[in-house]
Amino acid sequence: MTKGFFTPVAGFDLPRFAGVPSFMRLPHVPFEHPRFGEVEVGLIGAPWDGGTTNRPGARHGPRQLRDLSTMIRAMNGETWVAPFEMVNCADLGDVAPNPGDLMESMARMEAFYSRVVAAGIRPLTGGGDHLCSLPILRAVAKDRPVGFIQFDSHTDLNDCYFGTSRYNHGTPFRRAIEEGLIDPKRYCLIGIRGTAYGREDWDFADSVGIRIIPIGEYHARGAEDVMAEAREIVGAAPVYVTYDIDFVDPTFAPGTGTPEVGGPNSWEALQVARGLRGLDIVGADLVEVSPPFDASGGTAWLGISLMFEMLCSMAEAVARGR
Ligand code: MN
Ligand code: MN
Repeated sequence: MTKGFFTPVAGFDLPRFAGVPSFMRLPHVPFEHPRFGEVEVGLIGAPWDGGTTNRPGARHGPRQLRDLSTMIRAMNGETWVAPFEMVNCADLGDVAPNPGDLMESMARMEAFYSRVVAAGIRPLTGGGDHLCSLPILRAVAKDRPVGFIQFDSHTDLNDCYFGTSRYNHGTPFRRAIEEGLIDPKRYCLIGIRGTAYGREDWDFADSVGIRIIPIGEYHARGAEDVMAEAREIVGAAPVYVTYDIDFVDPTFAPGTGTPEVGGPNSWEALQVARGLRGLDIVGADLVEVSPPFDASGGTAWLGISLMFEMLCSMAEAVARGR
């Protein structure tokens, strides 16, 4: 690999356990950096869990994801994609929320991502709870609705919690549809399971044309078949991918606030991410890693491994579009 400014620190130059951790050992390139305009895919931390309705801690996700990300190497050992050779990747740093003010935090996140999108950078975010995706979508889908693939054990399509809360990590995609950010006809939601409050979120999904693939159907068909359908649904137009780590079975990803049993294993978690290959991914996120529940660090390691898979597909999309 030719060394350049956007090349990660190599494991044979500095051992991977040494050094100041950035996402995947990439250069830290904040807005004011002179080479900010050259970045094509920006890795961003969203240390925010103010939208959490049960066990918190996802605000600590980006720091642990960065720490574990130093174990990521330069090439994908399954597909041999080498994203850092294909496109300019950088760690853009963390968006700064206001931990005391939910609505203002969303405004701050939207403003941050608007600057990223305006610079032509495709954002790949490590969260944070799932409400983060809403202000990101407000920036990424500002000009037109995007296709949408969601890996999750929950729909996050609820209308309201506790009678008044319309903005929390159980409602972001209901709001995103209402705001015209997602095309519901190009929306595929995979992995739903567990106990439910009711059927209201499913009824809403049916009423607008969202395709839900519940976990039973997923297990019966397998990752490749399901992802073939997902690719068909979103098509060739721009798509945003959101990956909630609770899509994965809690045996493999216990470090999350709202786990649901009966999910895919870590191999299948990677398989569905590889099934994104060929799509025009304009942004993606990996959310809901909660380090206080992740004693071994294994959940964050799986999370950053999934971010690397998504990065590979995003890099290929950028390269195809040149
Ligand atoms: Mn979830
Ligand atoms: Mn979710």
